[in-house]
Amino acid sequence: MEVGKTSQEYHEATSLALLNGDDMEEIGLEENDVVKISSGQSSVVVRCQKGWIDPGQVFMPLGPWANHLVAWTTSGTGMPSYKGIDVDISATEEKPTSFEDLFVDRESMSAALADMPRLEAPPEVPEGDQADQLTLGNVVCPFCGCLCDDIELLLKDGKIADAIVGCELSRSRFMNWNKDRVKPAVRKNGKLVEVELEEALDRAAEILKNADYPLIYGMSTTDVDAQRKAVELGEVLGATVDNTTSVCHGPTTIAAQDTGVSKLTLGEVRNRADLVIYWGCNPSEAHVRHVTRYATTPQGMYTEKGREDRAVIHVDVRETKTAKANQRWHFTYQLADKLIKVKPGQDYELFSALRARLRGHEVGDVAGVSAREIDSLLNKMKSCKFGVIFFGLGLTMSSGRHMNIDCVLRLVRDLNEHTKFTILPMRGHYNVAGANHVMLWLTGYPYAVNLSRGYPVYNPGEFSAVDVLGRQECDAALVIASDPAAHFPAQSAEHLSRIPTVVMDPKVSMTALMAEVVLPTAIAGIESDGTAYRMDGVPIRMRKVVDSEFEPDSAILEKLIERVKN
Ligand code: SF4
Repeated sequence: MEVGKTSQEYHEATSLALLNGDDMEEIGLEENDVVKISSGQSSVVVRCQKGWIDPGQVFMPLGPWANHLVAWTTSGTGMPSYKGIDVDISATEEKPTSFEDLFVDRESMSAALADMPRLEAPPEVPEGDQADQLTLGNVVCPFCGCLCDDIELLLKDGKIADAIVGCELSRSRFMNWNKDRVKPAVRKNGKLVEVELEEALDRAAEILKNADYPLIYGMSTTDVDAQRKAVELGEVLGATVDNTTSVCHGPTTIAAQDTGVSKLTLGEVRNRADLVIYWGCNPSEAHVRHVTRYATTPQGMYTEKGREDRAVIHVDVRETKTAKANQRWHFTYQLADKLIKVKPGQDYELFSALRARLRGHEVGDVAGVSAREIDSLLNKMKSCKFGVIFFGLGLTMSSGRHMNIDCVLRLVRDLNEHTKFTILPMRGHYNVAGANHVMLWLTGYPYAVNLSRGYPVYNPGEFSAVDVLGRQECDAALVIASDPAAHFPAQSAEHLSRIPTVVMDPKVSMTALMAEVVLPTAIAGIESDGTAYRMDGVPIRMRKVVDSEFEPDSAILEKLIERVKN
């Protein structure tokens, strides 16, 4: 959502719980009533709505309200248990938990939201034909890991007036590019005040230089040049450097290091895949054009009839939009042929059952899936010509974490004794894959690296940002192009608000509201060019499409490095 995490729209979308209709009736709840949800960690009061989920389950969108219920501990993996948390739910007369209620330092958070130095709202793009109207084709969309490179932009007076071809997420990204932009700011007397960029850089360098245990985190929505500079700064500082992988596909990385992985490109999927399985992910809402551009409807070299030539199966704990009929422009299509509902937290058991059955062992019903359905799925897997499993955070964020992935990677390896089978994680932020590549080139490890000894030490669970913050070890942080305050468990986010934090971001974010220094940057892929890695590891060159008064992340980081060295 590109209208910003401090917007009313974001608050409404994330302060919400979806319940099963029968459960709501039993508790005596109507649509949009408030409920109190309590975990071992904390409790929040939010609105509830009917969702497509089984009795006994509740779904909350990832955001500050859900994060309040999540413990920061990661069992040595870097990934908190965002899913499968035991909660109590009750009807309540209490007021819904407000944004300010979620933070320890309520006053400064709400004051920062009101006082944050921002660019004035951009002038409206003029209507009608203009002499300086320009259409740009083949623009790369810097939003999700699909990195679609066929976006068409209409520019008027040097501003983006329209974005076509891409999905709703892409359109929102481009059309809101100039909204909620921050200016250089430094906290003085408890308040963020606008300063010259040089002053903000000086203060940021001072904070980082004086820290005993600095943390550099983020990097998933910027280009590879900035990622290189971030690691260089980490080396100069002797910092811990982590990227957002630790809270998305970190467990995938751990499992791949253990088991190995059968890789592929999205071009191969488009041209060859006749069986596509979406497991624990919801492309209809998170990677909208993944289905139309690469995996289900497009016609390929050996999939000439497009959707007709493919079987599509969706495995999830709930009936997401991916399992339903989807509308795109003027046509409706059924994305998945079949939904297989697995019990929450039991994917590992289902993968194990499929492996056992593949070896000829008898299995009964497993994880809520009947033995017959397991056989039917396995037969489809064995008999396809080219199969692929796309998987998401449904596997990495539940209790099995890397063991879920380990088991499915082994299943894919076993299937290759029968046919060609591959697997790919659905990467969320458009260049989180790039952050892994860059850290691998430079340090030998993809994330969670400590550079304080003069050489890289890798250890998810020790050097991942959630752990470092949760244990209250770091005494300063530099957050680059990400928003951990909106995504981390509350206790980790709270430590971020207690230490001096420098935020590099083009827009207002929750982390910026708690920052000591805010350094505005150009938006990579819109206001500056650069390279990003698609979810399948293919590097794509992004274009600069409009001018900016701000400098790219890499230039700001270069200036920080100079200051820290001197
Ligand atoms: S699928 Fe992702 S990369 Fe493609 S247009 Fe939509 S948001 Fe952009």
